[in-house]
Amino acid sequence: DVQIQLNDVRHDEIGELISVYKRMMGQLEESFLQQQRFISDASHELRTPIQVLEGHLKLLQRWGKDDAAIMEESLSTSLAEVARMRSLIEELLDLARRETVDQTKYVDLVEATRAIARETEQLHPQAKIIIEYDKNNPFFAAISEDAYNQIVRNLLQNAIRYTEKIPNVRICLTNEAQYHRIEVEDNGIGIQKDAIPQIFNRFFRADEARSREHGGTGLGLAIVKMLVEKYNGKISVDSDYGKGTKFTILLPVKSQLK
Ligand code: ADP
Repeated sequence: DVQIQLNDVRHDEIGELISVYKRMMGQLEESFLQQQRFISDASHELRTPIQVLEGHLKLLQRWGKDDAAIMEESLSTSLAEVARMRSLIEELLDLARRETVDQTKYVDLVEATRAIARETEQLHPQAKIIIEYDKNNPFFAAISEDAYNQIVRNLLQNAIRYTEKIPNVRICLTNEAQYHRIEVEDNGIGIQKDAIPQIFNRFFRADEARSREHGGTGLGLAIVKMLVEKYNGKISVDSDYGKGTKFTILLPVKSQLK
């Protein structure tokens, strides 16, 4: 009887070990598959500009010497494709760098938001960006300044890119018990309900043509989400198709840190 009991115990332990092992293998396999998908998506995205470049170089080789118009057109298209590849590669590098830990400082969110809004308005003089916040509240979040700037920059860029009107963006900073809430609201084209769950996926574009036309890579929101989560924040989106979109970010307040 004792012998049987001992066997049972060992059996249970081995069974448990096997299930832990199986679970770990499953996770490994899933992350391997994710990486494989990522590499295949990234290669696919790079293939398109390379094909366009190749086509135009062949055109130049054949006709460029005799036809100034072809030369002009091919060169400017080629340069645009090179610029697209460059921003794609820079964004891919941003995503790959996600594991490295930056120097986390306390960022004055009002100050930083103002600077990025000003920078964006200079690049897009037609856009109007207003910032609202409670002047009696401190807005210091534990995040690297570069990360915060990039989050706001990407959201503003999208707010201005995905609209058919004069871009009007409202950034609103408020405080909750444990988080600073940053809302970026636009009057753009909005996002259809069925696209919303995919919006933070790498290379997802709800409006393929518009994204490409503005040099979009489909990586902007994936980078924003990765950065927000790296600093223990949260991001969500609300959209009214045809009316506008609001992104909400929560970043831990200063006192939350150990
Ligand atoms: P992209 O480089 O294509 O802009 P993002 O990851 O930044 O890539 O965004 C993914 C997709 O989400 C965009 O292609 C666009 O269809 C949609 N999108 C993002 N922000 C907005 C917005 N403010 N209003 C409407 N659609 C948006």
